[in-house]
Formats: sequence, C-alpha cells, structure tokens
Amino acid sequence: MDKRTVLVLGGGVGGLVAASVLRRELAPEDRVVLVERASKHTFWPSLLWLMSGSRKPEQVQRDLTPLVRRGIEVRHGAITEIDPEARRVVVDSERLTGDALVVALGADLVPDRVPGLAEVGGNFYTIDGAQQVYDQASRLHSGRLAVVVADVPFKCPAAPYEAAMLLEGLLRRRNVRDQVTVTIYAAEPVPMGVAGPEVSRGVVEFVQRHGIDYHPSTKLTRVDAPGKRLYFDTGAEAEFDVLAVVPPHAAPEVVRSSALAGPSGWIPMNPTTCETRFENVFAIGDVTTVSLKLGKPLPKAGVFAHGQAEAVAHTIAARLRGHGPEQPFEGHGECFIEMGGGMAGFARGNFYAEPTPRVQMYRAGRHWHAAKVAFERNWWRTWF
Ligand SMILES: Cc1cc2nc3c(=O)[nH]c(=O)nc-3n(C[C@H](O)[C@H](O)[C@H](O)COP(=O)(O)OP(=O)(O)OC[C@H]3O[C@@H](n4cnc5c(N)ncnc54)[C@H](O)[C@@H]3O)c2cc1C
Repeated sequence: MDKRTVLVLGGGVGGLVAASVLRRELAPEDRVVLVERASKHTFWPSLLWLMSGSRKPEQVQRDLTPLVRRGIEVRHGAITEIDPEARRVVVDSERLTGDALVVALGADLVPDRVPGLAEVGGNFYTIDGAQQVYDQASRLHSGRLAVVVADVPFKCPAAPYEAAMLLEGLLRRRNVRDQVTVTIYAAEPVPMGVAGPEVSRGVVEFVQRHGIDYHPSTKLTRVDAPGKRLYFDTGAEAEFDVLAVVPPHAAPEVVRSSALAGPSGWIPMNPTTCETRFENVFAIGDVTTVSLKLGKPLPKAGVFAHGQAEAVAHTIAARLRGHGPEQPFEGHGECFIEMGGGMAGFARGNFYAEPTPRVQMYRAGRHWHAAKVAFERNWWRTWF
C-alpha cells in the first residue's frame, strides 16, 4: 500500500497530542509530520506557577526530540501559507503536502492592539512576561497590583482569576498584603460565563474571599506606560505599580489569510468531527471557533484542544486505514481553578449539552491542587 502523510500544523497542546496518537494508530510506513516554529513545547498551565514563584522557566518547557525518537518527523519552521484545497503548506519556502491536515496553530497574542500595552509588558501568557510579573511582585512593598483581561476572546477562562489569587498569596507570604491592593479589571461580564451562573458565582466568591476587587465589563483601551495608568472603555482610569495582563488574542496571520478563516479570522469547523469545509482538513483547539446553542463560542482551553486532538487522530487513522469507527468530539471539558495556599476549585461538564452547557462546580480543596500538580507531571510523562 502507498505510504500516506499526515501534516500536523503546530506543536502545542493539540498538535502534540494529535501527532502522538496518529503515530500510534497509523501504519509504521505512514508519515506523521509535525510543523512547529518554536524550539520547545511549553506546558502553559504551569506559567501561573512560574508567575507566582513555584516553577522555573526550564521546568515548564521541553524540546521536541523525544517525538522524533518515536517516529514523528518534526519540522521546525514557520508556516507562511496554507492551501487547504491542495492540503499543502509552505514552511520557510519549502512546500509540504499531506493526505490529511490537522491545523492546531493556536491563538496569537497581540498586545499591539492596545496602545501602550506592549511597552509596559506584564503579559503573563508568555514565559518572559510571567517571569517579569513574578520579579516585580516579589519586590513590591506597597501600592497597587492590577490583573487585566484586555479583551475577549482569550484562552483559559480561569487563568486571570487564578493569577490574581496566586499573586495575592505571594504578597501574603511576603507579609506585604495589607499594603497592596489587588484588583481585577476584566473585559468580560462574568468569569467563565459559558460554564454557567453556578461556576461564575463560585469564581467571584473565590476572588472576593481573597479580598480582591473585581471590575467586570471593563475593556482596556490604552495604557500610559511611563505614567503607570490604565484607561478603560467605561471611562474609568486606574493606576498600578505591578501589572499582570492577558493581552488581546487573534487568529494567526497565516490562518487569517487562508481560505480556512471564517469572518472573525478563526476557523469554523464541524463541532463533532472537527473537519473544516475542506475534506480531510481538520482544525482543533484555540484556532477554531465553535458556536454553542446559547449563542456564545466554546471557550479556548487546552482541555478542548486535547479532546479534539484525540478524536481527530482516531478519525484520520480510520479514514486512511479504510476501516474502523471515526471518533467524535463530544464537548467534555474540565478545569482546575488555582486559589493559592495549596487550594484549588474544580469544574467539569458537557459544553455541548443543549440548550446550555451542563457544568458542575465542585467544592474547593487541597486535593484539586494536588490533582493539577499530578496532571502537569503526567503531561510530561505521557507525551515526552
Ligand atoms: C497561563 C495559561 C494557563 C493556562 N491554563 C490552562 C488550564 O489550566 N487548562 C486548560 O484547559 N487550558 C489552559 N490554558 C490554555 C491552553 O494552554 C490553550 O488553550 C492550549 O494550549 C490550546 O492548544 P492549541 O494546540 O490550540 O494551541 P497552542 O498550544 O497555543 O499551540 C499552537 C502552536 O502553534 C505554533 N504556531 C503558531 N503559528 C505557527 C506558524 N505560523 N508556524 C509554525 N508554528 C506555529 C505555536 O508556536 C504553538 O506551539 C492556559 C493558557 C495559558 C496561557
């Protein structure tokens, strides 16, 4: 039989899982080619612990060499063109063609969209930014610490609220909490709104219990970096000494300029098969947009990228083998909510339930924090 090639675009959460499962499921002579521009894979949830001082940068990243040992071809380089009709991509001027494509290119962070934001830094969705926030928060003795969600959509709906609680805990450990106000300014009306009112209320209670001020529906419009001042669409202004910010997100330029992009720039796909309007071209994770019945999109989160990757890998393997069942993605998701002090909350449910997602919030406890630590350890053990 001819050997077939599957191109996996992106070596983040979705791409790593898809390539690994494909390698296991496909015949040894079939090729799995993973294209990634970064030299290392980052486990993003650990950035919150990097920002609060319990991880070092080298603990949250690994290079992709172990994948090569397992028979995955890793092509390091930037994808500059995607032709979904021909299932062809251009990587640093080289053309690669596949029998199937998995697009897992995530979301780009675009702080430039808010004047002054790139200049001020504090973007804890990057390793350097998380490290910078930690360094600044570790030196702060009095003043104002602001956690800002600049715009929607953004990945990991819980992350900014977890960030505020973890930073608050850092200030408490340093015995300076009484001299520092901690405030969240968020562009969204409630935390984790898609998960439903029980979860939103739970998260607001968590942050209030930590004495954190919370300003919802407050979109960042400008930052005066030298003056350390934030401006919002409500007309409100705020001063800060330390800023931890989730910057605006956008679909990667290579996606926006391809035939895959929908009107918003993100990729629409079949919510269950993850297939785009092009045959055997699948899109998973943050780069996609899935409209739920309640009128809001499926949140951007690793748990969905992971589940979609497993489903898509089995489906592609079944199609290329010519037999076996395709695997649907059924909308299951779960999320730990780190609270600091070794405590965490947990929410789990079906985001494809109709008419609204059915998500349950569990009682916070030490065991959920321990489970998140175990999840991190298992991530490296399972995929590297
Ligand atoms: C601080 C933080 C905490 C988080 N915590 C959680 C959590 O607890 N639970 C959870 O479910 N989610 C969490 N997330 C969200 C989660 O990390 C993302 O939703 C997930 O990584 C999405 O996976 P993905 O494969 O779609 O994209 P990514 O993991 O972002 O991967 C995309 C990959 O594509 C590559 N790429 C992009 N463009 C190109 C190009 N042109 N050429 C080549 N390569 C390219 C990128 O370098 C990247 O490696 C967190 C995120 C952050 C930032």
